[in-house]
Parts: sequence; C-alpha cells; structure tokens
Amino acid sequence: MSQTINLILTPKQAHDISSIKKAAALFLHLPANQITDLQIVRKSIDARQQTPKILLTANIFTNGEKPTATYSAPVYKNVSNAKRQVIIVGSGPSGLFAALQLLELGIKPIILERGKDVSNRKIDIAQLNRNNGINTESNYCFGEGGAGTFSDGKLYSRSKKRGNIQRIMEIFHFHGANDSVLYEAHPHIGSDKLPQIIKHIRQTILDCGGEIHFESKMTGLIIEDKRIKGCTTADGKNYFADALILAIGHSAHDTYRMLAQQGVTLEAKGFALGVRVEHPQSLIDQLMYHGAVRGDYLPAAAYSLVTQVRDRGVYSFCMCPGGHIVPASSGKESCVVNGMSASQRNSQYANSGIVVEIHPDDLPKEYKGALGALEYQEMVEHLCWQEAQRVSDKPSVAPAQRLKDFVEGKASATLPQCSYLPGIAPSRLDLWLPDIISQRLQQGFRDFDRKYKGFVTNDAVIVGVESRSSSPIRIPRDRETMQHIEIHGLYPCGEGAGYAGGITSSAMDGINAALMIAESL
Ligand SMILES: Cc1cc2nc3c(=O)[nH]c(=O)nc-3n(C[C@H](O)[C@H](O)[C@H](O)COP(=O)(O)OP(=O)(O)OC[C@H]3O[C@@H](n4cnc5c(N)ncnc54)[C@H](O)[C@@H]3O)c2cc1C
Repeated sequence: MSQTINLILTPKQAHDISSIKKAAALFLHLPANQITDLQIVRKSIDARQQTPKILLTANIFTNGEKPTATYSAPVYKNVSNAKRQVIIVGSGPSGLFAALQLLELGIKPIILERGKDVSNRKIDIAQLNRNNGINTESNYCFGEGGAGTFSDGKLYSRSKKRGNIQRIMEIFHFHGANDSVLYEAHPHIGSDKLPQIIKHIRQTILDCGGEIHFESKMTGLIIEDKRIKGCTTADGKNYFADALILAIGHSAHDTYRMLAQQGVTLEAKGFALGVRVEHPQSLIDQLMYHGAVRGDYLPAAAYSLVTQVRDRGVYSFCMCPGGHIVPASSGKESCVVNGMSASQRNSQYANSGIVVEIHPDDLPKEYKGALGALEYQEMVEHLCWQEAQRVSDKPSVAPAQRLKDFVEGKASATLPQCSYLPGIAPSRLDLWLPDIISQRLQQGFRDFDRKYKGFVTNDAVIVGVESRSSSPIRIPRDRETMQHIEIHGLYPCGEGAGYAGGITSSAMDGINAALMIAESL
C-alpha cells in the first residue's frame, strides 16, 4: 500500500529524487532502503518567506511496490468510416482538443486550418523575426496548434468550473509532455517542446481516420433554414458535415467580418490593452525571492500583479520568466507583441503583458457596434506600427520606452538590451497611447512598485502593444447547448468565440463543444 505524504523541502532537496526519498524515510520513520519508489502528486513553491521552500505531495511505495499509471489513457476510435462528421475550423487548442474528444466519441473530425503545419510555420516565424515581413496566413497566431504553439505553454487556468482541467494535462502528457505537467502547481511546456506535442496530436487524429487540411481558410458558411450544412474555403472547395465548430481564435479579424456579412450575430465585449514589460530576470528573482540568490535549484521567478485604477483592472498577463518578447501580429502594418519561453526558461529576461481592462462603453463613439471594439484594437495596433516606423523602416520593429521614463512621462534617449528579436525603437508611449490606457498603466505601475519596491526601474523596458490578451468579440451561443443563438449546428468555441482565454480553458471549451455535439446528434 502506498502512503501519501506532504513534505517541505529545500529547492536543492526537491531537485534530487534520492534526497526526496531520504526526506520521506525520515518523515515515515523508515530505513531509506525500504522505500522502493515514489510518485510526485503535487509540487509548488512557497516563496512567501525569506527562504523559498518547495511543497511536495508524494505517494511513497515500500517493500517492492511500484506505482501504477496515474491516469487512464484516452481511447481514440477509428472513425475512417464514421457516419457522423464534424467540421472544425481552426487547429488551436480548442479545435485540436475538440477533434480528440470527437475521436473518443466515434465521430469524424475534419479540421480546416488557414495556416501551415507546424514545421513550415516555423520557417515563416523565423522570417518574421528577421524583419523579412509577415506571412498573414502563417505567423505566431495562425497555423497548426494555433496561437499557443510558440508560447510559454503555461497550462494553468483560473476557471476550474468548466470541466476536468487535469484531463487536459493528461492528454498533453499522453502526447509527449513531461511528467511535471501532471503535478506542478503551475505547469508549463515551453515553445521548444510544444511543436512536437502538436505533431503527435496531429498523428493521433490522422491515424484514427480524421482529416486535417492545412492552408485551407474557411471563407463562407453554408447555411440553409438557419441550419449549418458546411462551409467553403478560399481554394473553392465545399465541405459538408453534421455540425461545425468555429474555433478560429481571436486574431481572425477577416473571418469575423465575413461572419458579420453573412448575418451571423456577433457582439462587442470587454477586452484588454496595454504593453509588454521586460526586466532583467535577476531583478525579478530578487524581488520575488526576497533578495535571496536564486541559485541552481529554483526556477526563474514569476509574478502575478493586479490593481484597480479608476474602476478598471490593470493586471499582468501571460508572464514569461526567462523568456522572449515576440512579434504577434497577424496582419501587415500592425504592431502587436506577446511573450514566450522555452521549457528551461533560461533567457536573462522576464517579460509580461501589463494590460488595462476596457469596456465597450469606454470607447469613443466612432467605435460602437458589434465590431467597434475590434476596430479600436486595430486602430491602436496600426498606430503602434506607425510610431515604430517613424524611427525605423524595418517592418517588425516595435516602439519602446524605459519603464521609469514611461511612468514619469519622459523620453528615453537610449534603450536597454531587449529580447525582442526584430528590434525596438525609442518612442513616447506615454504620449501616443490613448489616455484610457496610458494613464491607467502609469498608475498601475506605481501601485506595483509599492508592492515590489524596485519594479519601476529604467533597467526595465516597455514594448508596444499587448492587444491580443482577450477577444474584443463574442459570438453568442446558447448557454446549455453551446450552439450559436440563431444558427443550429454552429458551435462557436474557444478564445475567438469570447468564452475562453488561454490554452487550457480553450482546450476545455473544445472538449465541451464535442460532447454537446455528440449529445445533439
Ligand atoms: C505568443 C503567445 C504566447 C501565448 N502564451 C500562452 C501561454 O503561455 N499560456 C496560455 O494559456 N495561453 C497563451 N497564449 C494564448 C493562447 O495561445 C490562446 O488563448 C489559445 O491558443 C486560444 O486557443 P483557440 O483554439 O481558441 O484559438 P487559437 O489558438 O488562436 O487558434 C485558432 C486557429 O484558427 C485558425 N483560423 C482562424 N481563422 C480561420 C479560418 N477562417 N479558416 C481556417 N482556420 C482559421 C488560426 O490559424 C488558428 O490556428 C499565448 C498566445 C500567444 C500569441
């Protein structure tokens, strides 16, 4: 019989299995050689005290016992000849997890993805980082695996209500993610590992008889009597199925416009806009680990910050310890940044989005209507690109300002080193960002500095703009059935539908859509 115990360890102890065994033996008053195996169930860092500790829950096996698998492997059915078929538009986390769930239910998924497969997508992303221009169909937002493929791959979610989050971790693990995703309190995969996992998911879908069509942009829905029949793609093909999952993410502005033209009801919703801030990782380590030297055994420190400024939230978003800032626009003449990190989180920089909550009512009157918030987002992204082009003719250069200068409303004559590969150019973000954003950001940063003295420093830089942290559109759906409120058989899903945010909750939404479809068929 295994026993589950809770240990409080030093980072060095927690790093080494034999030290954990020794600590477990001490805890259980057993000779160390009686412990034959151990299985970590939960691991988190407690950095509240001066000396950070690792909290570990583990199953301990004694006298020759061995751990069994911690979860049941998913059983994917062969759907090559399945009578029921579902089109999935988009191969991000919501589309892929919907497809996997359909396989479990014996329904054939047909995925249409506007971008390229993950290997070819990497080539376009390298070109983008070299300032050789953007491929508007294959970039950080579009292509196999969706927006999360070249990301930090953080897998935690605040929304525990939607479903079984642990099952998402198990499915990632089944497709090649490290064991740590099963037990870390804040699991993450890393942009060096995610593409391989996405390829494994693709293989599962193809091996079971599902279809995946890359470079196949959906350009129209086929609707009869308010019921979905299928869709058309840019290359002139028609696809027909029993239902259609719309898992397009929140960057497909052309697709939103196409839907609006086809009379599909859309709604403007609250979203967030701001900047990405980058500090030296060593500074963030000092602030979060209370001045202690991080050493070899603690991970690059992360933070999560939130404050209220004049009735709107200002908060950190998608913090990437040991990461890089990346160009995350999907269109020409537009500048958008986001963050990613590799599995080791070992760059010398810590970056995070710092964004201001925006309600549709906050926007000037010319940005009203269903697409108003989206148009506002586009306006700021274009303005950001124009501001960078004042000083540089390289297409992906981003405007930047030292953090303290931004807060104090001063120009930065020089900029610090930055991880953003296409390069940054000095700019007065404090002057050209709309007031509803810049003034709240300035106050928000002051609040963060009160909490973590030294956070506002000129060793840190802000880079514009972080505008794709959430969708400015909702595609309204029935609360119970998840179908569009007017079109039967159409399932808006994931981040682009306005009902999820982040990899895990989008994946969960995809699973739920697949389950709803199975019920309705
Ligand atoms: C650089 C970066 C880092 C991020 N880091 C994290 C992180 O660490 N953790 C986290 O939880 N979240 C992160 N995110 C956010 C996360 O990626 C998204 O929340 C998530 O991918 C949303 O999933 P989705 O399936 O709803 O949409 P998406 O992932 O956006 O996928 C939508 C897919 O639909 C395709 N598509 C769009 N329109 C069409 C069309 N008309 N026809 C065919 N295909 C179409 C797109 O090409 C895309 O592949 C990051 C995002 C970025 C850009």
